[in-house]
Amino acid sequence: MGTIDVDSVPFDGYESLIEADTRQEILSVAQSLKGLRVVHANATPTGGGVAEILRSLVPMMRGLGIDASWWALEADDGFFTVTKRLHNGLQGKGTSLCRKDIECYWLHNERAASAIETAFGFADILVAHDPQVMAVPAFLRDGTRSVWHCHIDLTAPAKDVQARLLPLTQYYARCLVSMPEYAAVGLPPERTVAFPPAIDPFTAKNRHLPLSEARARLAALGIDCQRPLVTQVSRFDPWKDPWGVVDAYRLAKRRVPDLQLALVGALTAKDDPEGGEVWRSVRSYASDEPDIHIYHQPEVGGDETTVNAFQTASNVVVQKSVREGFGLTVTEAMWKGKPVVGGDCGGIRLQIEDGVNGYLVNNAVECAERIVDLLDDPQRARAMGAAARESVRRRFLMPRLLLDYLRLFQQIVHGQLCQPERCRDSEAKALAAMLAVLPDSEAAEHGQRTPRSRGKVRRSKRAPARVA
Ligand code: UDP
Repeated sequence: MGTIDVDSVPFDGYESLIEADTRQEILSVAQSLKGLRVVHANATPTGGGVAEILRSLVPMMRGLGIDASWWALEADDGFFTVTKRLHNGLQGKGTSLCRKDIECYWLHNERAASAIETAFGFADILVAHDPQVMAVPAFLRDGTRSVWHCHIDLTAPAKDVQARLLPLTQYYARCLVSMPEYAAVGLPPERTVAFPPAIDPFTAKNRHLPLSEARARLAALGIDCQRPLVTQVSRFDPWKDPWGVVDAYRLAKRRVPDLQLALVGALTAKDDPEGGEVWRSVRSYASDEPDIHIYHQPEVGGDETTVNAFQTASNVVVQKSVREGFGLTVTEAMWKGKPVVGGDCGGIRLQIEDGVNGYLVNNAVECAERIVDLLDDPQRARAMGAAARESVRRRFLMPRLLLDYLRLFQQIVHGQLCQPERCRDSEAKALAAMLAVLPDSEAAEHGQRTPRSRGKVRRSKRAPARVA
């Protein structure tokens, strides 16, 4: 478990991105919060969207005088296998959890709370990201107020996981989700807010990369830049439907024979222990077709400039998810002027206006059609790409997320939000709620919707899936 080293970044650098009144509001709200001790806690320092956000957001908060820190949990695969099931349950996949699983979860959260207090002393506000560290506030000393920032697609959760996790919201001053629709899962209405994540345009991943440099990087990885390329950048995760991307590519290739596909997904997210299994399944599904390039190496997917190069130099970027809390990969590609072909779900719907700045699709056939449409009509693709970039500029850049967060902190600090009262036996009560109706051994899986899986993974009774 550990503190992640983060710099302090001066806010001036971001001022060119925002209007004068927004700048003024950020500065004045930050001034009123100077010295506020905030700890962000999550499950992994690398890999996935939460780490991506915190790497920029925490330094920006520090640059404005907030005493912000980032702490990431370290645990073994056993714990992350449990939390992956919780994550999958929240996204709608029935799961099986036994008493030992819940006790493992509870123990790690207790240790995490103690490690956080040892590392930072008393915090005014703890922001716990996603389910892995959701029980931490149950163990914090009185006085720290907590925000649960859930980045997951909560459209249709599995009932058992929903029933076990939601009692933990009693510890939170606020629950924060990416879209208002997610609150319907049963979050306390008077203590739930919704605002979407954002990207940092100044990171190596998102700053302007000349096309020639992007192409040179891709050429070094075996891509023929004279021929069209469609790319999906994502962890290897069933919810991202990499098999469906291969299907769509194969259908599109019938119409565009020289088409190439890149699937970029570094196996760097510590909280995603089954990424390797999905990667092997997808690799076997792609059956060594020479124009399908699958990259799982950290030096490709973990290198920000290389990810930038794929998003910049691809003719079409796809994000064919079947569940997606928000989808930073969509935002990143749109910022590079790409009309993204995205799965019609969750946060992708928030970003893509179908036919205006990208396309929403519901299956591989639709996905293939939209890929071909964009390749056939580069002028239209350019116009949609320009609309995509503009919508990210208006809605999904870091200063907006920073301001939303600062306003939330201000509400909490100034007591406009009630923190539920903790009672002395609250930990015991929450644990009891999580254990309620649990069998002592693993139960049969519930027949709820699961992400599609193929090949080796599909043959397995329990499809792998991810942890945030
Ligand atoms: N990402 C990356 N390399 C990869 C795969 C993903 O850098 O090989 C990054 C991606 O650019 C994005 C984040 O990981 O910034 C994924 O965030 P998103 O919200 O799309 O999905 P999540 O992984 O959080 O479900």
